[in-house]
Amino acid sequence: MAEIRIGIQRPVGADGLLLHEDDHVAQLVLAVENLEQALAGAGLSIAAVAAIDVHTTDRGLFDDAAEVLTQHLAEQGVRPAIVVREVSWLGQAGMTVAVGATAHAAETESHKEEQKMTSELTDAPRRSDSSDAEALRGLCDGRVHLPGDPGYDQARTPWAVQVDQRPAAVAVPHSAQEVAEVVRAAAAAGLRIAPQSSGHGASPFARADLSRVVLVRLHEFTGVSIDPELRLARVLGGTLWQTVVEAAAGHGLAALHGSSPDVAVAGYTLGGGLSWYGRQHGLAAHHLRAVELVLADGRLVRADAEHEADLFWAVKGGGGSFGIVTALEFDLLPIPDAYAGMLLWPAERAAEVVHRWSDWTRSVPDAVSTALRLMSFPPLPELPPFLSGRKLVVIDGAVLASDEQASELLAPLRALNPEMDTFARLPAAGLTRIHMDPEGPTPSVSNSVLLDDLPAAAIETLLAVAGPESGSSVLAAEIRHLGGAVGRPADAALERLQGEYLAFFLAIAATPEMAMQGQADADRGVAGLAPWASGARYLNFDDNVVKTSAGYTPDAWRRLQTVREAVDPDRRLLANHAV
Ligand SMILES: Cc1cc2nc3c(=O)[nH]c(=O)nc-3n(C[C@H](O)[C@H](O)[C@H](O)COP(=O)(O)OP(=O)(O)OC[C@H]3O[C@@H](n4cnc5c(N)ncnc54)[C@H](O)[C@@H]3O)c2cc1C
Repeated sequence: MAEIRIGIQRPVGADGLLLHEDDHVAQLVLAVENLEQALAGAGLSIAAVAAIDVHTTDRGLFDDAAEVLTQHLAEQGVRPAIVVREVSWLGQAGMTVAVGATAHAAETESHKEEQKMTSELTDAPRRSDSSDAEALRGLCDGRVHLPGDPGYDQARTPWAVQVDQRPAAVAVPHSAQEVAEVVRAAAAAGLRIAPQSSGHGASPFARADLSRVVLVRLHEFTGVSIDPELRLARVLGGTLWQTVVEAAAGHGLAALHGSSPDVAVAGYTLGGGLSWYGRQHGLAAHHLRAVELVLADGRLVRADAEHEADLFWAVKGGGGSFGIVTALEFDLLPIPDAYAGMLLWPAERAAEVVHRWSDWTRSVPDAVSTALRLMSFPPLPELPPFLSGRKLVVIDGAVLASDEQASELLAPLRALNPEMDTFARLPAAGLTRIHMDPEGPTPSVSNSVLLDDLPAAAIETLLAVAGPESGSSVLAAEIRHLGGAVGRPADAALERLQGEYLAFFLAIAATPEMAMQGQADADRGVAGLAPWASGARYLNFDDNVVKTSAGYTPDAWRRLQTVREAVDPDRRLLANHAV
């Protein structure tokens, strides 16, 4: 019987912010509700819980409220051990309690029934044990790896390398036909299917029980073709952005890629896709022309505005719950180059730079998409000297205008005399590296929040929680400027990003201790900015298990569920942010 640990769940709403600040009982109830959600996300119910860890800042307050918990557990017919620890801080002022759990993966018959109703990890009839995955052996020309096989560890390792995902099997298809065969065989064996392209978005699986899941890794199923006349790119399964960007640049065209060259087109676009061209041209998902997917029943379908229109609407930002994407076709932009780069100052200049940037973002046209980061680099020989061991404030991005106009637009920032200024005309293919995102597997933890505004008080808070004097362990506290076309509604599941700014706190998690500290500091950043939160979430930047519904309007969420029910009634597919 596998033991699963569900990390500490806090009394927070969908936006990650504390609710019921003055009501300890209500905090406990909400934390338990969130624990039950996290359990469901791991395919378990409260009935599978063997022990509950309670963290409280005030033992007396918890003891007064404890009966609510014990009564709730008794109503479920379970009596787990309850271990209470007093802690000095739970990440947000006023938070008094949080709960985690240790659960057992194997359930009784009655638990199975309950899970069928509630759990994303519940699958179709379970027929035997983990040897069910043996049925997939030999598919994909032998590229199906089971636990213990020599290729298993390499095949299951995601970009987010700290995520120790242990599926029943890893399949590495090279064609849509092979994807369909894997899906059919997994279904026949009663197993679920989780598509993954690069594993940049694997973090929500960190605690999931994948022992009944076939991980379909698409990183070897790649390819791109460009139709310059139609300004159209067609990419296969798990293709990474850099390949597309380079192919398009050969025709004087640009794609709506993000800040990193090795994020995959599929997961990025299915989740929305925020680009340096975003404020001018909108989300990448809004530029999809067609998507080809293998559905949960093994059928390969093509969805576009005229065919499978509901499904097409759903994949435009609704994530990976609807099918395994084998090809995407999308618009390219007639942009051969842009005025792009970065400005960099030592962190002592942070306050004046952040205030100036915030004021500046209010006046710049949609042609300007930028981000500001407070960065803190450890001293590492592999880093360039201008970064190694330094605390910095960096602004980067792109201006889609002539050199003259761009220089005029950037003048207020340049007037602050940056130590380094690389803004210049860059070929479009160079825009994937201006943000210096780490390439190759990188262990990290993070948290994010969409903000309605970034007034002076928010900036002071940002500096207090993540500035040079804050003691925070985050590598980068980043604010991306939104608005413009990413804020205007389109006909898509993710119709727009609800907020003027996106704040993202990221820490390197090379050890479990670094992960814990980094997560606490990232949470502290998000909690600090809570007063300016828009209440919505951008799931592409959510590395934690969150309520997926928070990524959508209520209407879009209902429609997404209807589409899911139509294409995957058995909940066969498993996405990092499940609909
Ligand atoms: C360093 C870094 C930089 C980033 N920069 C940006 C940015 O600038 N803008 C932005 O919007 N986001 C950005 N992101 C977030 C990124 O878009 C998400 O993590 C996204 O989910 C990555 O997609 P992937 O396919 O590479 O990752 P994966 O982990 O492989 O996929 C994530 C999820 O997407 C779905 N999925 C992936 N492939 C398929 C497929 N073929 N068929 C069906 N479903 C699939 C699955 O549900 C999967 O769980 C960044 C992330 C990192 C780590």
